Amino acid sequence: MIKLDTDVKISEFDPDFWDNLKEWLEPLPFDVFIESGYRSIEKQRALRDAWEKDPKHNNPANRPGESAHNFGKAADIHPIPPTKKRYYLMSITCRAYHITGIGSEAWHYQSDTWKKPKTGG
Ligand SMILES: [Zn+2]
Repeated sequence: MIKLDTDVKISEFDPDFWDNLKEWLEPLPFDVFIESGYRSIEKQRALRDAWEKDPKHNNPANRPGESAHNFGKAADIHPIPPTKKRYYLMSITCRAYHITGIGSEAWHYQSDTWKKPKTGG
């Protein structure tokens, strides 16, 4: 079962990405919790500022407009309960659904076709 945090809206995901997420997550032998999906530029800026000011206590965040979250093509997903084995199972099963993780954040998944847009830095 897929559980969503209160501010995560299915309608804000890219439709193809959400279809892939569902196909991947629903058959998993445990529930998952989606903590974050689409993020506005303003929200991304706030996360980036927090990380730059206090990197020890905040997760790394891309610049506004440079995160797949800003395009509805990323989700932060935790297994319930969040065990290493379950994160690992997620990381090795996602690729069949055109979804890729990033090594540094076990919970972050994004469309494997997503390319960082050219924003001029
Ligand atoms: Zn993320």
